[in-house]
Amino acid sequence: MIELDGAVGEGGGQILRSALTLSMMTGQSFKIKNIRAGRQKPGLLRQHLTAVEAAAAICGASVEGAAVGSQSLRFIPGLVQGGDYRFAIGTAGSCTLVLQTILPALWFAKQASTVSVSGGTHNKAAPPADFLIRVWQPLLAKMGVQQDIALKRYGFYPAGGGEITASVKPVSALTPLYLSSRGTLQQIKAEALVAGVPGKVAQRELDQISLRIEGVAGEIRVLSNDQGPGNAVLIEVVHKHLSEIFTGFGEKGTSAEAVANQAASLAKIYLASRGAVGEYLADQLLLSMALAGEGSFTCTKASSHLLTNIGVIERFLPVKIKHEQGGQAVSVSITSV
Ligand code: ATP
Repeated sequence: MIELDGAVGEGGGQILRSALTLSMMTGQSFKIKNIRAGRQKPGLLRQHLTAVEAAAAICGASVEGAAVGSQSLRFIPGLVQGGDYRFAIGTAGSCTLVLQTILPALWFAKQASTVSVSGGTHNKAAPPADFLIRVWQPLLAKMGVQQDIALKRYGFYPAGGGEITASVKPVSALTPLYLSSRGTLQQIKAEALVAGVPGKVAQRELDQISLRIEGVAGEIRVLSNDQGPGNAVLIEVVHKHLSEIFTGFGEKGTSAEAVANQAASLAKIYLASRGAVGEYLADQLLLSMALAGEGSFTCTKASSHLLTNIGVIERFLPVKIKHEQGGQAVSVSITSV
């Protein structure tokens, strides 16, 4: 039984989610204490509990401690079964984080799968659905993953009510990915989403982004009122070898300009760096790369999410993950041991 301490490093939900994924995939049991000890409201929230329940349903695990607020958990996995699954978070908790927990296990199941997760699709401090679809998934496809994620309905905090689906065809192994450069810049696009929020908010966001970053093609997407209220602005930076998305999330009391600045500041950090991938993509790419046994990438920064995830992955998989600062980027490399 692998023993983990959720207070280590970042001290957030990712330690648990990565452990669930790796436990399902390797058949190794784990127990974890101090779940999300580094957060203001520690323990399992609905999003984390749904990830536990989804993982357990997919591999027939036996679980102790799966309740809202629980700060410890034991997870004894069974065999992963592909199939048709539906999970409801029941709040605006992030659907994307639940999907990222379970999809890797389904890539290697014997049967094809479909999954639907309902809840939030554009949440602060989580990848928006667009990030999974346009950033994460194309890189997984280069590794041989056969997966198709679709955003069925938008869900914003606090109403939730969004839905994301995924269909997966099984593969037997992943091809290692080596991503040392992003290639030449091809396009920068901005998309302002408004649901039940005046269109002029979206226009102000696009205007602010144009002031901060040159040559951005802007688009306003007005969603039906019943998918709101909600607002987010996405800046997609397209290079030859990958796309990145940087997001600002609208909130009551935050000006349109401040929301735009969140996204623009992240995009500018990326554009000024030489790392192939941005800070968030780095920690999200690591697990799939480690499942391939080896791989490498450069990124803008070794975030605490990345360093914490390295620690969890090395507990479950026979890999060594090194990171090294050099020039204007951090190099990360994974080798089998
Ligand atoms: P908590 O920290 O409250 O436990 P959590 O369960 O949501 O929250 P974290 O451990 O903080 O989890 O992990 C959040 C994940 O979301 C990380 O993988 C991070 O890279 C990703 N992420 C956060 N913000 C963004 C963003 N704007 N775009 C893409 N990914 C993001």
